[in-house]
Amino acid sequence: MKIVKTVNEVREIIKNWKKQGLSIGFVPTMGYLHEGHQSLIRAAGENDKVVVSIFVNPIQFGPNEDFASYPRDLDRDTEKCNEAGADLIFAPEASEMYEPDFCTFVNMNGPTDELCGKSRPGHFKGVCTVVSKLFNIVTPDKAYFGQKDAQQLAVIRRMTRDLSISTEIVGCPIIREEDGLAKSSRNTYLNDEERKAALVISRSLNEGRKIIESGENDLNKVIGQIKLLIEKEPLAKIDYVKAVNADSIQPINTADGKILIAAAVYIGKTRLIDNFIIERNAADDSNNA
Ligand code: AMP
Repeated sequence: MKIVKTVNEVREIIKNWKKQGLSIGFVPTMGYLHEGHQSLIRAAGENDKVVVSIFVNPIQFGPNEDFASYPRDLDRDTEKCNEAGADLIFAPEASEMYEPDFCTFVNMNGPTDELCGKSRPGHFKGVCTVVSKLFNIVTPDKAYFGQKDAQQLAVIRRMTRDLSISTEIVGCPIIREEDGLAKSSRNTYLNDEERKAALVISRSLNEGRKIIESGENDLNKVIGQIKLLIEKEPLAKIDYVKAVNADSIQPINTADGKILIAAAVYIGKTRLIDNFIIERNAADDSNNA
């Protein structure tokens, strides 16, 4: 496995692989890798070559967010990539990605209006811009994204469609700790007490799923129940809990279609996200009634 830091080196290697007719799978990450990332790298193994980018992208962080403290450890990440079967790591410095006079951005309306788009203004502009750049550098056949960041997955799918990018976007399931907490690089911020408290997120979402499965169609009631459960945890502070269509990320009130129930919750100072997707067909339900 090779580690490179410049765009030119990546281009040279990719050119060579393409000359040999090899297919390329790509996994963009911000590093501090865990089994969630490794599951994407393993899924990308369906291609001949697997490229992983490790880049804490400054332009997707707000001024009061954790860009400076975001965990970084390239040696540790290298081991994780090796273990999962990556062929190339692209780990650029910010200056390699953004010239001092950089001024071109990819901006989206619609799927970025709600959830994290609302709580983190400018976040998805940063994400879409860096993912476009990375796609242009790596030119992958397929790129792998986790459902852990369900809005991001929907946004990237829409962006590739709207901009006629030929890379196929593959969504991968959420990998969790044994007790249910969604794996995240940010879990390392939690102390023991917060780590226990953080469980309230996946547990409450699970209860919400059960309520829908038991036939509740009023999503406002479901969201209300999830919020009540989370609010019982003193260390938890809700940023949002919301029901949206999983593709358009537009708010929905009734359980119909592909429903995304997404939550962002502060545990102490750490903002964690989690979600589930459930499909419902209201017409079927009424036929069965
Ligand atoms: P990040 O390094 O947090 O930017 O994440 C890089 C990619 O890994 C994104 O596509 C995430 O959705 C995905 N990812 C992060 N955590 C998980 C997880 N627990 N399960 C599955 N995918 C994940």
